[in-house]
Amino acid sequence: MTTAADETSVLPPTPGAPATSLAELQAREITAWFGDRKVLDRVSLTMPAGGITALIGPSGCGKSTFLRILNRMHELVPSAQLAGQVLLDGEDIYDPAKRLIDARRAIGMVFQKPNPFPAMSIRENVLAGLKLTGTKASRSSKDGLVESCLRKGGLWDEVKDRLDAPGGGLSGGQQQRLCIARSLAIKPRVLLMDEPCSALDPTSTRVIEETMKDLAREVTIVIVTHNMQQAARVSDQCAFFLASQGTPGVIVEHGDTAAMFQNPQDPRTSDYVHGRF
Ligand code: ADP
Ligand code: MG
Repeated sequence: MTTAADETSVLPPTPGAPATSLAELQAREITAWFGDRKVLDRVSLTMPAGGITALIGPSGCGKSTFLRILNRMHELVPSAQLAGQVLLDGEDIYDPAKRLIDARRAIGMVFQKPNPFPAMSIRENVLAGLKLTGTKASRSSKDGLVESCLRKGGLWDEVKDRLDAPGGGLSGGQQQRLCIARSLAIKPRVLLMDEPCSALDPTSTRVIEETMKDLAREVTIVIVTHNMQQAARVSDQCAFFLASQGTPGVIVEHGDTAAMFQNPQDPRTSDYVHGRF
């Protein structure tokens, strides 16, 4: 049942307001198809509030599809179909009474390739999400918001003297941190990151990893990564996806990252985390 109170509780607060409480994201029995091809089969996973969950596994096993389902982004693909539930603090984001925009506001996404608006200034980039989602903010609260988001994105010190310079003029790693800052401006409760460092050099990667660890104090993070060392460095828990021989993707094993890397329960997990396939 949905009540008016349920509806408003997934909305982020006014920009400039204190951080929201941490939210748990729960996927229940997710099955997904593209046309008549099933690509995920009854995948369930709880992503704890304020933790970093890493989704690992070989290419093509459905990690990105699963991530997109977590904020309804897969709906952009007309052939995509879904069964199952995604609960944000117990509220079904697919409830027909809920608005898509609210799910997208509450659950932000950062992509593999940094995609700031290149001609827009750094400041305008950070504020862009407010416009897209119709979030209102006063001029003075916007200045504060730009600074706080750039700080949280680990970029403030590098750009504070050139907020009017175009976003496209930054390095790749800086652009990705600008994208993180942009996604934070609408105060998401969850941040989904699809291989956010795979287009970046090792130094930028480390900076973003540190940024993520700081962010996890106020935003629940789910990251897809091919990089086992990265999963080990940043995540609290890990889920190992696999789709063998044309079968749909499933989670073979999930749990505490350190435990999974040191003592995997399934031989396929062991092979994967030790780079044997
Ligand atoms: P991963 O991120 O683990 O590499 P994906 O979620 O991208 O895997 O893909 C899972 C499966 O779904 C793959 O077989 C892929 O070819 C298929 N797939 C992904 N996106 C689409 C799409 N838009 N249309 C049709 N099939 C797709
Ligand atoms: Mg992918």
